[in-house]
Amino acid sequence: MTESNEPTGWRVAVIGAGPAGCFTAGQLLRDPRVAEVAVIERRLAPFGLIRYGVAPDHEPIRRVATVLARTLADPRCRYFGGVDAGTVLDLGVLRRHFHAVVLAAGASRHHPLGIPGEDLDGVMPAGSFVNWYNGHPEAAHPVDLSGPSVVIVGHGNVALDTARMLLRDPGEFAATDMPPEVAEALARSTVREVHLVGRRGPAQAAFGATELREVFGIPDLLVEIDPADLLLDPASAEEAESPATARMLEAFRAVAHAPARHTPHRVRLRFHFRRSPSAFRGEGHVREVVLTPNRLEGPAGQVRPVPLERAEERLPCSMALLATGFVASAWASLPWDTGHARHERGRVLEPEAGLGGVYAAGWIKRGARGLVGQTKADSTETAATLLDDLAGAEAADVSGSSGLEGLLKEAGVRWVSWPEWQRLDAEEIRRGAEAGKSRLRFESEEAMFRFLDGGK
Ligand SMILES: Cc1cc2nc3c(=O)[nH]c(=O)nc-3n(C[C@H](O)[C@H](O)[C@H](O)COP(=O)(O)OP(=O)(O)OC[C@H]3O[C@@H](n4cnc5c(N)ncnc54)[C@H](O)[C@@H]3O)c2cc1C
Repeated sequence: MTESNEPTGWRVAVIGAGPAGCFTAGQLLRDPRVAEVAVIERRLAPFGLIRYGVAPDHEPIRRVATVLARTLADPRCRYFGGVDAGTVLDLGVLRRHFHAVVLAAGASRHHPLGIPGEDLDGVMPAGSFVNWYNGHPEAAHPVDLSGPSVVIVGHGNVALDTARMLLRDPGEFAATDMPPEVAEALARSTVREVHLVGRRGPAQAAFGATELREVFGIPDLLVEIDPADLLLDPASAEEAESPATARMLEAFRAVAHAPARHTPHRVRLRFHFRRSPSAFRGEGHVREVVLTPNRLEGPAGQVRPVPLERAEERLPCSMALLATGFVASAWASLPWDTGHARHERGRVLEPEAGLGGVYAAGWIKRGARGLVGQTKADSTETAATLLDDLAGAEAADVSGSSGLEGLLKEAGVRWVSWPEWQRLDAEEIRRGAEAGKSRLRFESEEAMFRFLDGGK
């Protein structure tokens, strides 16, 4: 055993190199009592949704990666890219090798709607579409954009991102890091109409006003909102007093009451409020979505949709994207709430004899909502809780990342170290410069390994 609370002695493992993992690691490394932070990431590339979620035309947010990279480059930080902490390792092993383990694995699982026709071709989780246009290693290829109209279910920023990808002039992605085959597919796309369907009213939508205005600013786009939809019932009017909702509604009103500015138009975007999808129909491939109209019921803060006994409506579509949110997969043996870990200020499990405590940060802690700024704030809280716990506990002698390396070697796992990632990163930027893009990504993780091993 080392002496308790020995300065420079604490060893922490962080699972996930997205914003939450990197922000938490960064906070921990500010404390000189922390000897090392091992960041274990399933993908070879770090940065989570900054690389594989944020849209290619949101370059300023993508640049957050530069800040996160500073933490991963810290001499007391060890990066293990390509190691799945849920399969290759398990939590018990990590708790024995580290004084604490932080779960920052995000929330990427799609929660099905549970309605007929969801398995038809052309119906897919919005996350799969996002994976495709961001070149995620597990993305399904190709995506068929040969139809005229797409229905997107969900009224949040992920729905808006996917709509923007379908509606923007594809030439505008040329200089971004969008994979060339995706840019080519978008250039060939015959999609001319996007429908955004939400089960409640505009006051309950989760769009950001900035994100809405960005979409409304697309040249040659006709936006259709029924002004009657913007008349609010008393509970919705009360909800609309929150500044974020008020800004969102202002953005809607500016468009709904504007004279038809964009006629003739190239593409069309229509908002549908108080409509729930009840089925997708088609033979093999989706042809239409059946919508059930709702009325809203309940007090402010708890407004919920109640189906109306009215004839169903049918909306023809050639593709349907389900942007109804993500949930975090439960980790065996950990206390869990719907879609995220149960925790107290980030603490999930207390340290106990011979086992480090378990903590959570980011989307796995608070559920899949909120921007990078909120993820930073909750990571700071988690790091503070963890450091408080360690300061009050007897610190056992643990092997940390050298023990972890031994385990991985024994299991024959090939991982990517930080210097190796820096080589991959530099190569993507070099290839991008040649192609007139900010970055040209490797086409697969196998190709990354081939490059590292001296091939092309
Ligand atoms: C489509 C989309 C667009 C977005 N656009 C914006 C935007 O424009 N601006 C903005 O501010 N925010 C945006 N966000 C929100 C932002 O991405 C999140 O706030 C943030 O990424 C959450 O961070 P996280 O670290 O909790 O999760 P993630 O970013 O998902 O990181 C989790 C990491 O854990 C890894 N991991 C998972 N399981 C394991 C395992 N078993 N072992 C090892 N590693 C594992 C994952 O590979 C991933 O790298 C967007 C989100 C989405 C989904």
